[in-house]
Amino acid sequence: MGAHKYYTVNENKITRTKPFCPKCGSGVFLAEHADRMTCGRCGYTKYSKK
Ligand SMILES: [Zn+2]
Repeated sequence: MGAHKYYTVNENKITRTKPFCPKCGSGVFLAEHADRMTCGRCGYTKYSKK
């Protein structure tokens, strides 16, 4: 998996609380996607598939 960066920030959701990256620690947010969250810094991807 590559460290692709995707930023799909919706202005209406920008105030929504985002999870921190478990690798980078607090201060680095994960970018939310339809079925996963990714870190734009280290490339960490967390799948939230249910
Ligand atoms: Zn990270």
